[in-house]
Amino acid sequence: MKLYSTNNTSLRVDFPDAVFNSLPQDNGLYMPVQIKPLDAKFLDKIDQYSLPEIAFEIAKNLLQDAMPENELRRIVNEAFNFPVPLIQLDKNTFALELFHGPSLAFKDFGARFMSRIMGYFLKKDEQMLDILVATSGDTGGAVAAGFYMVPNTRVTILYPKGKVSDIQKMQLTTNGENIHAVEVEGTFDDCQALVKLAFLDQGLKQRFRFTSANSINIARLIPQTFYYFNAYAQLKAKGMTNLVFSVPSGNFGNVAAGLLAFKMGLPVTQFLAATNINDTVPSFLKTGIYTPKPSVQTYSNAMDVGNPSNWVRIMDLFKEDPDQLKVILKGYSFSDEQTLDAINRIFETYNYVTCPHTAIGWLAANQWRDENQLSNAAMIFLSTAHPCKFPDVIPAQVKKVMVSPEQVIKLKASENKFDSISSDFSEFKNYLLEKYSS
Ligand SMILES: *Cc1c(COP(=O)(O)O)cnc(C)c1O
Repeated sequence: MKLYSTNNTSLRVDFPDAVFNSLPQDNGLYMPVQIKPLDAKFLDKIDQYSLPEIAFEIAKNLLQDAMPENELRRIVNEAFNFPVPLIQLDKNTFALELFHGPSLAFKDFGARFMSRIMGYFLKKDEQMLDILVATSGDTGGAVAAGFYMVPNTRVTILYPKGKVSDIQKMQLTTNGENIHAVEVEGTFDDCQALVKLAFLDQGLKQRFRFTSANSINIARLIPQTFYYFNAYAQLKAKGMTNLVFSVPSGNFGNVAAGLLAFKMGLPVTQFLAATNINDTVPSFLKTGIYTPKPSVQTYSNAMDVGNPSNWVRIMDLFKEDPDQLKVILKGYSFSDEQTLDAINRIFETYNYVTCPHTAIGWLAANQWRDENQLSNAAMIFLSTAHPCKFPDVIPAQVKKVMVSPEQVIKLKASENKFDSISSDFSEFKNYLLEKYSS
């Protein structure tokens, strides 16, 4: 597999280099040179395949000869060992639950695949790989669970004190082994600044082999295509092939993966990009003018992004035919008030509890259905996190019936461990040098 940069389409990089670099030097994003359509015979029989089998076929199609087939098969079997149910709420409405992995959010798909890909490409005698992550909540938990006990890797997670939910904090601080949590006296932006400074610091660079595990890594994007095909497979088995996917969106990695799946031949009628009031993309799709803005805090805080980092990938996927993008992708944005109202309405109508991000996906699906009157379309909204991760947002009468998944019960029984630092870089630098001296 070869990749280029969205800023330099004549660049050619091999898959392992793209994975360990995360970002090209020119600050673009890596994209596959070749996106081959999937074999028609495979798509025809896809309803007979399991999720790991689908994942294997798609990964093989994209990665080509980047790694041996038996290793790829082992990785997808290990990474996707949890259920991905498609819950039918009424005749045409489905929730695709992506939150049954260890961190209870869809980011497990990307993190579990990427960590194992990195583990495979790390040679035995190579220097330890140090993964530095700043998190506002969901990313850290998925990366921690993804890299837990992966040989030759060590993860340092920085999170802002008092600004992550209790369950999120437990997911960061109860792992032990090769996972280290650092509580920063500051904001998420401070955490991100510390990570960026560490990557640039000559002294640290001599001592450590750093990589970031953020959502722009190509090895996080690829596995997110798998569940779109898996949902298609399940609906095809029911004779439904007119699909509308509604995707709660922040950095636009999830919907970028859906569009990559579309380019590989996934039959889709419509994608909906559903955002909170951070509506840079929906307003671009309406006006044609792209204006990044500072992010605004909302109830769906994993989507509080004013300048979505994966948007350039979507523009790149459609660079030959920008009009096709306007047809296949529609944008919708909703307020906090509408989000709360939706959580209540979904509960009253279907006796089903959603997280605030997922509720926005449902709102977009509903609005699209009202506008389009396509009676045989299957509306699938992606359920991106378990509602228990956002207890402060869920109304009391809904929270009463919310069932804690077993992952949470285990977390509560585990020991909490973290170190504390200020947002001062020299303190962080000394922390790394002392903690990891040996
Ligand atoms: C990260 C996240 C999103 C946004 O996904 P993007 O790929 O960044 O668009 C939505 N919902 C939840 C729960 C998340 O954790």
